[in-house]
Amino acid sequence: MKSSIATVSISGTLETKLRAVADAGFGGVEIFENDLLSFPGSPRDVGQVVRDLGLQCTLFQPFRDLEGMPDGLRQRAFDRMERKFDVMAELGTDLVLLCSNCSPQALDDRARMLDDLHELGERAAKRQMRIGYEALAWGRHIHDHRDAWALVRDVDHPNIGLILDSFHSLSRRVPSTSIGDIKAEKLFFVQVADAPLLDMDYLSWSRHFRCMPGQGDFALAEWAEAIHRIGYEGWWSLEIFNDRFRAGSASGVAVDGYRSLQLMHDQVARRPRAPIAPAMPAPVAVSGVAFIEFAASHDEAAALGAMLHALGFTPAARHRRKDVTRWTQGDISLVINSEPEGFASSFDLVHGASVCAIGLRVTDVAGALARAEALGIQRFEQAVGPDELPLPGVRGVGGSLIHFIADGSEADLWAQEFPEVLTPEPAASLGLTRVDHIAQTMQYEEFLTWLLYYVALFDVAKTPQLEIADTLGLIQSQAVESPDKSLRLTLNGSQAAQTLSARFIQNYMGAGVQHIAFETADVFAAAEAAQVNGLAVLAISRNYYDDLEARYGLDPDLVERMAALNILYDRDGEAEYFQFYSRAFAKRVFFEVVERRGYGAYGATNAVIRLAAQARFRDDRAD
Ligand code: MG
Ligand code: MG
Repeated sequence: MKSSIATVSISGTLETKLRAVADAGFGGVEIFENDLLSFPGSPRDVGQVVRDLGLQCTLFQPFRDLEGMPDGLRQRAFDRMERKFDVMAELGTDLVLLCSNCSPQALDDRARMLDDLHELGERAAKRQMRIGYEALAWGRHIHDHRDAWALVRDVDHPNIGLILDSFHSLSRRVPSTSIGDIKAEKLFFVQVADAPLLDMDYLSWSRHFRCMPGQGDFALAEWAEAIHRIGYEGWWSLEIFNDRFRAGSASGVAVDGYRSLQLMHDQVARRPRAPIAPAMPAPVAVSGVAFIEFAASHDEAAALGAMLHALGFTPAARHRRKDVTRWTQGDISLVINSEPEGFASSFDLVHGASVCAIGLRVTDVAGALARAEALGIQRFEQAVGPDELPLPGVRGVGGSLIHFIADGSEADLWAQEFPEVLTPEPAASLGLTRVDHIAQTMQYEEFLTWLLYYVALFDVAKTPQLEIADTLGLIQSQAVESPDKSLRLTLNGSQAAQTLSARFIQNYMGAGVQHIAFETADVFAAAEAAQVNGLAVLAISRNYYDDLEARYGLDPDLVERMAALNILYDRDGEAEYFQFYSRAFAKRVFFEVVERRGYGAYGATNAVIRLAAQARFRDDRAD
């Protein structure tokens, strides 16, 4: 596919933007007029930079308020356009984007609009230019691509065509089936943006909340499929207005953008009777968390081990040569890596004891690596010793790793690499069976980057976005889940500097795993065992339990038991959720134990209680 992006989507100076666009793999770039106005050189100089970077200038934009202007303003609009043709010639593009008229003076006179567009076509033809007409969602009289198409069709001028922009069509819920009426040769250009579904005015929604395909809620694959199906073979160009992207790094946004376009076409290719073939292996099917690896110095490894012990884990085996211990309980493997050299050691130096890698069971390791590569996700490889199995992986959140392990090969991995079986003093088991979810925390600006990373690479769906009130600010939260829920990741991004999430990022020196939840079949037995083992559990306020009893009409004895064990509760219809938390380890990571009785979410209503309880320890150096 021919991939392009508008300069307005990215932060920085025009030169920075163009370099980032070229480096990310795009073939084309739309030049936004404001970027040109603030550039110190001429439009010809910009055109030269574009070509020197191997890019094509796909479009110049925007041109506003032309069709249907009253007599006094009509000529002025044409004169303005003639000057833009000069600029376009210097830039090296023949296509300009004409937005549907928003002026309060615009006439609702279809015959006049047709006349104006015809006159414009004639002028454009003389200059070998083309006009792409786009229906803005907030256009005064034309705000639906069906009406814009009807004008373009009826003007019937070779230099006048249509531009489709997913935001304008999907925000107004214009059915994508209507694209089938458009002639491919008249569709001059396609602009792409996703967005969360919000109930607000179109202009503000578009200016501040557009995001990359995969990050929002629009049915983009269906829309893009309809465009592929009419035989369109032109550019697909991202046009994203978003305050967060403008606050982010130019290269990061460009890389995300390129990834998001590949994802959108891949989603089209995987629809029934798709009009295009997939260009990469299928989304990675995950069948569980094989292990979670902590990097920890010797001192911290001892403290972390004591905490795992209190959580009922057993140090089951040691690596054949390395200073690495495997802790197990149920189907869960936690690995503490204290090697003085290598990836884990450098990770520990930067972050302190923390999760440096996650091993995921996948059905097709080679396919997973190939998909990651096609999406521009960096591969990770480390030197492998003579008796060791290679453990392929890719870079993930905050420089941590995700390893792919062929489903069914884990027993071999453990037997081969961890032959030394330990027989420690067992702790009381908490009956933990599996990893329920892994919570990652990141800067608000990075949130959409990592959301896109997961939805692009893996066969996962995202849950609706939530906002959780911390005692000191808002946290944005969203989960990605595999179809059978064997992989659940929750992502949390903080907009305020003092939230627990933000402080985590400060303490941890970057984004990463903030907590790990384990599943048990009996949360009360687990909490009692934790007490026996001396686990430091997060204490929950008595007021919470008084409210809980009233809110759900629970049996007072049950509420008393929960209060005694600091167990939190949520209900969704008949489904119930029980959870308790450990205190944090070194202010970086904490653990959660959950019991699900048919419940599918994460107890978001309790997050504020948990955050408030944790906030009480914020200045306590022991936590
Ligand atoms: Mg547009
Ligand atoms: Mg949780």
